[in-house]
Amino acid sequence: MSFPLPAGVASAPRAVPGTYTRILHGGLGPDPVTGAIVEPIVQSTTFVQPEVGVDTGFTYSRAANPTVSALERNLAALEGCEPDAVAFATGMAATTALCLATLKAGDHVICGDVVYGGTVRLLREILAGFDVRTTFVDPTDLDAVREALCDDTRLVFVETPANPTLKLCDLAALGRLLADHPARFVVDNTFLTAAGQPCLEHGVDVVLYSTTKYIEGHNSTVGGAILTPDAALRERIAWCRKATGSIQSPFEAWLTLRGLKTLPLRLQRHSDNALAVARFLEAHPRVSRVIYPGLPSHPQHALAAQQQLVFGGMLAFEVESTEASLEVLRRVKLCSLAENLGAVETLITHPASMTHADVPVEQRLAIGLTEGLMRLSVGLEDPEDLIADLAQALG
Ligand SMILES: *Cc1c(COP(=O)(O)O)cnc(C)c1O
Repeated sequence: MSFPLPAGVASAPRAVPGTYTRILHGGLGPDPVTGAIVEPIVQSTTFVQPEVGVDTGFTYSRAANPTVSALERNLAALEGCEPDAVAFATGMAATTALCLATLKAGDHVICGDVVYGGTVRLLREILAGFDVRTTFVDPTDLDAVREALCDDTRLVFVETPANPTLKLCDLAALGRLLADHPARFVVDNTFLTAAGQPCLEHGVDVVLYSTTKYIEGHNSTVGGAILTPDAALRERIAWCRKATGSIQSPFEAWLTLRGLKTLPLRLQRHSDNALAVARFLEAHPRVSRVIYPGLPSHPQHALAAQQQLVFGGMLAFEVESTEASLEVLRRVKLCSLAENLGAVETLITHPASMTHADVPVEQRLAIGLTEGLMRLSVGLEDPEDLIADLAQALG
């Protein structure tokens, strides 16, 4: 079974055989006791030990829990780095654990100049206080990345497509650049997931997710995950999770497993809808700019077609002034003004005052995050209805 090609891309087939099958069956199986086909929710803090020094593999749910472990095996199968992953209470808990597991005072981080606002806050306002230095670099500028690398650099952290300007990084090129440097190459793949953008083949060392977004996909949970083929690093991250107490809860893990089952189907529909909405916005006289990797006007459209299996459900668009954007946000009815993304309902945000309010204004403007920019997480509604809603909001 093959993953559908992105709509509108006339490239050679780039099927990834087995994505659906891996998601539905990878790391899962009928419950050995009851035969239940769906993973049970093991809502238990502790696990009785047959005798001192012997356990079932589970002792206390801050260290590990069977439902969380099922989610981890399933995510690992999807990403292609079996047998395991590390699941967290939130995406930011995952980023924090990664930093704690890999950094110490005096170390250096290179971070993409456009990343999730919470990641910037963690690096600038928390880790800086522990003497971890971060250089923010445009990751499309390979010379700038090379220049920023130093002996103390331990992590090179990027997002692609980036939130919210949808700038892309060339993962293969960055992977080559970093191949002979000990720094770990980390990709926050929240916007596309392994079903839409397999990363590990490009030399990426660590893939990080906010599962809150497309992976769970239903606006029902917050969660995070880290995947890496480096078993020692994975164990250290899981140990940091236990030490600091940031594991996913069993019920949230179960909901996330449930959401995952339809991930490729949702991702395709999100992308098809986003392309339809992007084309409508691009033709609208009141819209000054539309940023969507699936549009030929996106400066990195060719890279998107080559690196991604879908163009994704996220787009950004700009109207002429702050006031005009606030007016659109007041008038939308079907699109909800809310901070999440990647879920079945369409959400719209104003990054400058919402998700990225903590990013210093000079940094915001330098990356093109203007006051009139709105971010749309295109949901699974009928695209005609989304277009009609935006048309009436734009007036
Ligand atoms: C939401 C998000 C995060 C943070 O995840 P939480 O689950 O909200 O903690 C990190 N990276 C990206 C790209 C995100 O969209």
